[in-house]
Amino acid sequence: MNRLPNIQSLPTDATKKPVTITPDFVIGSSDVVLMAGPCSVESYAQARAAAEAVARVGGRVLRGGAFKPRTSPDSFQGLGEQGLEILRDVADEFGLLVVTEALAVEHVPLVARYADIIQLGSRNMQHYPLLWAVGELHKPVLLKRGFMSTIDEWLKAAEHISSRGNTNIILCERGIRTFETATRNTLDTNAIALARQLSPYPVLADPSHATGRADLVLPAARAALAAGADGLLVEFHPDPSNALSDGQQSLPLSMLPHFVAEMSKITAVFNRSFT
Ligand code: PEP
Ligand code: MN
Repeated sequence: MNRLPNIQSLPTDATKKPVTITPDFVIGSSDVVLMAGPCSVESYAQARAAAEAVARVGGRVLRGGAFKPRTSPDSFQGLGEQGLEILRDVADEFGLLVVTEALAVEHVPLVARYADIIQLGSRNMQHYPLLWAVGELHKPVLLKRGFMSTIDEWLKAAEHISSRGNTNIILCERGIRTFETATRNTLDTNAIALARQLSPYPVLADPSHATGRADLVLPAARAALAAGADGLLVEFHPDPSNALSDGQQSLPLSMLPHFVAEMSKITAVFNRSFT
């Protein structure tokens, strides 16, 4: 039976389990974190430009896909291991950490060698062998919500990972499919707030895939932080109009300083910092 909300007191968050990525970088504390970079790693120069821009605003984590889950098999599928090498190189040059997706069970050992955080994509949220494979490691895992999955299914997917021993889990709300077609997906801010109540894991939001439109990323990101997100995963590209994937939802790297300044205004309201 559903528990009625207790209107005498505000909902309290579940006992939190911050995820330590490095001794000086923890996700799920009062510091709200930024993970930014291109949808796909396309070239050394492109990834390096992203790393430089992320580091310059004080960001700690570079994102970028090397193995891409694309709706069409004719679309760019990523650079594979070469993309992982590029990501690691440019991240190391600027002292950044790397989050990147493992698309298949057989990629997990390879991705784990290069990444600091292994991303599991929306389309793979219920790919149980993949959840078990990352569950066997100690590497932090960023688990995207399936775009057709309920909050309960998402949290149970996280339990599949923890059931194998790995509790270094970061949840990420990335928008769900609704009847609305004006945007690629619909950012479920309810899910951000509720996952923080029901689950011990930090909850991030991805306003890029949640909206599919560069002009909506900033307002959606503001909403996500107001709903309590512990961080953001955002697509930035040096030249969005020529991106090989998701250019329409990518912000130009030149907007990073403004983006960070705007996010800091929101987190300050909640006595949290940003980056
Ligand atoms: C991505 O982050 O590039 C990505 C493919 O995201 P999702 O799995 O949420 O579609
Ligand atoms: Mn993308």
